[in-house]
Amino acid sequence: MILVLRSGSSLAMVEQALATVRGLGAEAHVLNTFDRALIVVSSDTRTLSTHLFQTIEGVEKLIPVSTTRHPLISSHHEQPIGLGKHSGTIFGTGMPILIAGPCSVESKQQIFELAGSVKQSGASALRGGAFKPRTSPYDFPGLGLDALEYMQAAGVHHNLPVVTEVMSAAQVAEAQPYVDVFQIGTRNMYNYELLREVGRHRKPILLKRAMSATVDEFLQAAEYILLEGNLQVILCERGIRTFESRTRNTLDLNAVALLKSLTDLPVIVDPSHGTGRSDLVAPLARAAIACGADGLLIEVHHQPSKSFSDAEQAITPDALATLWQQCLAVRAVLQDGREAPFNPIAVPKVLTTV
Ligand code: PEP
Ligand code: MN
Repeated sequence: MILVLRSGSSLAMVEQALATVRGLGAEAHVLNTFDRALIVVSSDTRTLSTHLFQTIEGVEKLIPVSTTRHPLISSHHEQPIGLGKHSGTIFGTGMPILIAGPCSVESKQQIFELAGSVKQSGASALRGGAFKPRTSPYDFPGLGLDALEYMQAAGVHHNLPVVTEVMSAAQVAEAQPYVDVFQIGTRNMYNYELLREVGRHRKPILLKRAMSATVDEFLQAAEYILLEGNLQVILCERGIRTFESRTRNTLDLNAVALLKSLTDLPVIVDPSHGTGRSDLVAPLARAAIACGADGLLIEVHHQPSKSFSDAEQAITPDALATLWQQCLAVRAVLQDGREAPFNPIAVPKVLTTV
C-alpha cells in the first residue's frame, strides 16, 4: 500500500506518519517525490483495516499495491501533456499527435528543411536523434551537441517542440536546455537509474517499450518516472522481437489496445521501428490509429535511401502527408457519433484514398 501525503506536509508530520504506520506493525519507508512524500508500506497489510491508515494525520489518499505492480500508473487520471511551452502540441485533447523527423540529425540544413516539410505534412512535433544508440559501435553515432543546437533552432523557427533520445544522466543534462521532450529508447527502458533521472525533470518523457518487455514491465518502467514526480509520460509501442525475420520487429498492436485499458497515459505508436520497412509504415500507422493510439512517431527523410541511419524505414514528407490524412480519416470514422474535435470538412476527400 502507498500512503500519499498532502503536498506541503512538514518533515515532522511525515516522520510522525511513518512512526504511526510502523506502530501498527507494518514495514514502511518514505519516498520523496517532487511535490509530496509517499509512505510505501512493504509488508502485508491485509489483516489491518484501511481505516487505520486513512485516518493518519497528513494522509491524503491510499493506493493499494497488492492488486498491481504499478499503482501510480493505475491510479493516474488523464491529464493533458503539452510538449512545448508555446507550441500548442498537447496530448489529451482528443486529437491524435504526429511526431516526425529524421532518425538522425545529419546537418543544420537537413533538419531545418525537414522540420518545415514534416510540419506541412501535419506533424506537430519534430523528432531527431542527436545521440544515437547503434547496435554496431562503428555506425554513425549522431552529431551530439551540434545536433541539439540545430534541432532547437529548427524547432523555434518552425514553432515545433523537439523530441530527442537521451541515454545517460550526462546526456539528460546536456540536452536539457535544447529540447522539449526526452525520449528513452528501447534499449534503455530497463535503465532504472536513467528512468529515475528523467523522472526528476519537468519535461515530458517519451518512453519506448523495450523490444523484449512485457506490457507489465513497460508499465513498471513508467512507474519509476511517475514515482519521481514526473507524471508527463507518453508510452510508445515500437515493436517487439519475435521469430519473424521479414520485418525488423513485430508491431504489437495488442499492447496498444491493452495499454489504453490499463492506463490513462497517452499511448503512441512507432511504425517505423515497428516494421523496419518503409512500405509497411503507412498501413501500420493506420492500424495504430484504428486501435486507439493517441499519436504516431515516424521517421522521415527527403531522400530515404541516403539516410545516415535506418534508411530502410524512412518515408518521404509526401508519403507522410498522405499517411496522416488517412489516419485522420480513420479517426474521424471511429469518432462518428461521438464528440469529435476534428474538422469533418477534410474527411470526404481523404476517405476515398484509404
Ligand atoms: C529512435 O527512435 O531513433 C530509436 C533508436 O528508437 P528505438 O529505441 O525504438 O530503437
Ligand atoms: Mn531510427
